[in-house]
Amino acid sequence: MVASIIDGKRLGAEIEEELKSSVSLMASSSRAPHLVVVIVGEDPASHVYVRNKERACKRIGIRSTRYDLPEDSDHGDLISLIRKLNDDREVDGILVQSPLPSNFDEIGITEMIRPDKDVDGFHPINLGRIVTGRTDGMLPCTPSGIMRMLESTGESLRGKKALVIGRSRIVGMPAALLLTQRGIDATVTIAHSRSEDLESLCRDSDILIAAVGKPGMVRKEWVKEGAMVIDVGINRVEIEGRSRLVGDVEEGASEYAKWITPVPGGVGPMTISMLMTNTVRAAESRLH
Ligand code: NDP
Repeated sequence: MVASIIDGKRLGAEIEEELKSSVSLMASSSRAPHLVVVIVGEDPASHVYVRNKERACKRIGIRSTRYDLPEDSDHGDLISLIRKLNDDREVDGILVQSPLPSNFDEIGITEMIRPDKDVDGFHPINLGRIVTGRTDGMLPCTPSGIMRMLESTGESLRGKKALVIGRSRIVGMPAALLLTQRGIDATVTIAHSRSEDLESLCRDSDILIAAVGKPGMVRKEWVKEGAMVIDVGINRVEIEGRSRLVGDVEEGASEYAKWITPVPGGVGPMTISMLMTNTVRAAESRLH
């Protein structure tokens, strides 16, 4: 079997097209949605991510503002900025780029953002809503992007065995919760660094989501014949003297899977599209 590719770039572009029309309607009747991105320090990868988010805003017509805080800013500086943005009626979405320098309490900062402006979907209220079965709020971007990719295949997930490798607050755990929602109805196993016999868990799974951050850790022959594979990992590696991005799933898994996401061009672009979706949603609820 050679897997079909779930093309995150193409799917993301389709989502952006839909958003464009909502945004232009909003812009003509009141104002365009407004996303504020806050970045602290000089982490090069974070600057690339922020630039990509700004570019997406521009493509769609979303207004974006960026605050660059120096590496040596303190917690108080960031908290006062968030308070100001929370109160600003012209701001719909607030995103504080992760990772923050080590002297910051990242979870505490997330909790400072008003839940209805938390376009990353990481505030405990937004994460908690998913537990109660509500998926109409600010959903965390990578997990909701994963769901959109699975849905785009047209395959039913009902009753299927899904394995989520990784239990992080921002990817693995919410992805597992979304897969078990009523109406989606997958049967979910969550694996982590203490899980035993990952190989058997993988071999038994119809849906495999790898969100670990270890290049090629899921061996291609572990993938069940006909499985759907979502590779969330983004790992920079040197191959034959060239720097490349690879996922958590070994190359060649498409010989076994029925559907698979590429790295790059899979979950990454979808994460940005979901951020744009949350920003438009936040603006719609504020402007209506
Ligand atoms: P974290 O480091 O927060 O979580 C990694 C998870 O992997 C943990 O739960 C950890 O287990 C688990 N793990 C580590 N080693 C193993 C192992 N040997 N076997 C099984 N599980 C293991 O990472 P994130 O969730 O933030 O990100 C995961 C990956 O996804 C990274 O490569 C990141 O770059 C990428 N990513 C991609 C995004 C995109 O847009 N495409 C967005 C966000 C992340 P334990 O809990 O026991 O430590």
